[in-house]
Amino acid sequence: MKPMADMNCTFDQHGDPNGDRLLLQALWDDLRARREFLTSPYLPACFAFFIHILLCSPFLVFEALGCFWPRIHFYRISRIAEPLGLCLQRWVDCFWRIFIKYLTTILPASALYQSVRNPIFPELAPSWRVLIAEVIACLLLFDALFFIWHYSMHRVPWLYRMVHQAHHQNRITFALTAQDASPAELLSLQVLALTSAWVVGCHPLSEALFHLLNTWLAVEDHCGYDLPWALHRLLPCFGGAPFHQAHHHVYRGNYAPYFRHWDWLCGTYLRVREEAGRKHGGRTMRRRRRRKSLGSDCVCMCAYNKA
Ligand SMILES: [Zn+2]
Ligand SMILES: [Zn+2]
Repeated sequence: MKPMADMNCTFDQHGDPNGDRLLLQALWDDLRARREFLTSPYLPACFAFFIHILLCSPFLVFEALGCFWPRIHFYRISRIAEPLGLCLQRWVDCFWRIFIKYLTTILPASALYQSVRNPIFPELAPSWRVLIAEVIACLLLFDALFFIWHYSMHRVPWLYRMVHQAHHQNRITFALTAQDASPAELLSLQVLALTSAWVVGCHPLSEALFHLLNTWLAVEDHCGYDLPWALHRLLPCFGGAPFHQAHHHVYRGNYAPYFRHWDWLCGTYLRVREEAGRKHGGRTMRRRRRRKSLGSDCVCMCAYNKA
């Protein structure tokens, strides 16, 4: 494994001479000019927090609209009819939980890490090809590392209690719950993401895009909606929200955060029957919802079978 500094030195040979990175180079030059701001010890935690909130906000709008326009609940995996006040309260409570953990743990830890690391700003931006390859490699590696870590947390009782149980207080997830976890788990996720980027030897631009995508995919996993344009519908290698919601429902299986292959290979894959219903125009799901919905704010219409 090459150290990151060595890896970054190779970026001069990474780009191709055909100018397919002109746009990236302009962006990178602009970022390099703001080096002082980018190396601020408080930036990573603040950026991670605000990006998370920003990416969650469309789902808050979606949920609020659903209180007035129940047709939106057709795409909801679980929870149905809920007064707007309760919905907002759920979001506000979760927001403060995450905010306090960021303030007391993530911010000091990442500031300390930023102050001891020596960030490298190579002159050249990566080519598009390199950027995409590095981001995919990071996602695959992070997925594998998280699968092992997540599986371990469920297998070792004290690890589950000390680190992971807080995340499972949300049996029915919504976008913000992607980071509603114990401080130890939030820190461990940061370490896994940084380790993935370090092992791949990413260009800083690829690393930033990886962290951005990582945050988005976690939000989409927890959003609670199975939307027609969701990534797992376009690329079936991704599990998406139904895949991860299954894990929150039954507390086992579907341990990988994004892709399905590790759970298939390790025999921990949970099949979501709802998907079969959706293929027939969603009639199965709608009928099941009509039967179970009234009087309950939690409809566990997903039936999961061990594959
Ligand atoms: Zn989760
Ligand atoms: Zn879990």
